[in-house]
Amino acid sequence: MKERLKKDLMKLMNLPGLSGYEDRVRKYLKKELELLKVQTQTDRLGNLEANFPGKGPSVMLFAHMDQLGFIVRKIEKDGFLLVERLGGVPEKALPSQAVLVLVAEGKDVKGVIANKNHHATEQNEKYQVLSYKKLYIDVGLENSEEVEKAGIRVGTPIVFYPKSFEIGRDRIAGTSIDDRAGCAIGLEIARYLSTRVKGPPVHLVFTVQEEYNLRGALPMAQKLLPDIAIQLDLIMATDTPDMKDYGNVNLGDGPAMSMFSFHGRGTLNGVIPHPKMVSLFERTSKELRIPLQRSAHTGALTDLSYVQLVGEGVASIDLGFPMRYSHSSLEVCDLNDLVGLTELLIGALKKIDSNFSLERDG
Ligand SMILES: [Zn+2]
Repeated sequence: MKERLKKDLMKLMNLPGLSGYEDRVRKYLKKELELLKVQTQTDRLGNLEANFPGKGPSVMLFAHMDQLGFIVRKIEKDGFLLVERLGGVPEKALPSQAVLVLVAEGKDVKGVIANKNHHATEQNEKYQVLSYKKLYIDVGLENSEEVEKAGIRVGTPIVFYPKSFEIGRDRIAGTSIDDRAGCAIGLEIARYLSTRVKGPPVHLVFTVQEEYNLRGALPMAQKLLPDIAIQLDLIMATDTPDMKDYGNVNLGDGPAMSMFSFHGRGTLNGVIPHPKMVSLFERTSKELRIPLQRSAHTGALTDLSYVQLVGEGVASIDLGFPMRYSHSSLEVCDLNDLVGLTELLIGALKKIDSNFSLERDG
């Protein structure tokens, strides 16, 4: 399983898929699901859905396909590109990054986010973070005519140059582990679901626009009206020198569940997990001897915040794999956590049957 997860993750990380432009990621997932003889449907927003019938409360299990990046705002006469940020792109991690301008498969254009020549950097500029508005992208072309001839226009999507590589023992570094790792786990769950003999109805969904507006999954949830929603994404690892005060989630110490998430800036949303979901995953973790870490902090949230409010309310939980350096061009995760999360999910799904109650009282 570890090898398969690694292969899928690295392939998925190398496919660009800015929010709203998830097509290449979806194509890969669709093809892999078809190899399993699993039928899929794509909705109008681009969410990819696979349904596995069963008995008991219905489960929507989902991970987002999209990644953050940029949109071309203006093409300068001398051929440089000015951009808008799409998603939570950290400005201090931008200068001298490699990017890929997404024109079309086979026609993408490589570029560099410029960093001012060091020899000309004044003393007072050395410790400054520049606003994205002051940054420009160099795609190596002479002028705006050449840029337009290459297919780049206002509105063209751009992502960090896709890369993935192994570091240390069983660790992966690269772009958009958030949330291609969730997608890789989704595929692995599909392999289980396509051969199981019994279990609850599961809607496996690969969603869009999470990094953009957190609501791409919403129409899918409104259509499916699931009883249970399980969202797969990163959980913030806190085992680096700069993160110690945020919790005790360690890379390589197993999957994690979020006990509290909240984002107040403009969003005012978050997820407090349903108690029956917390106890389900705690029981499963104990029985299968898969350690389960806990996370509770503000500053982050997922599309589950909106999914949980659909219909009469959905019993929800955010599950994830610890990850370092979120939203930068090089994120890091541990393959063993992905394996643990997949096994935990399969174990928990097996426990959901017609007697599984989501009652709050009694
Ligand atoms: Zn994510």
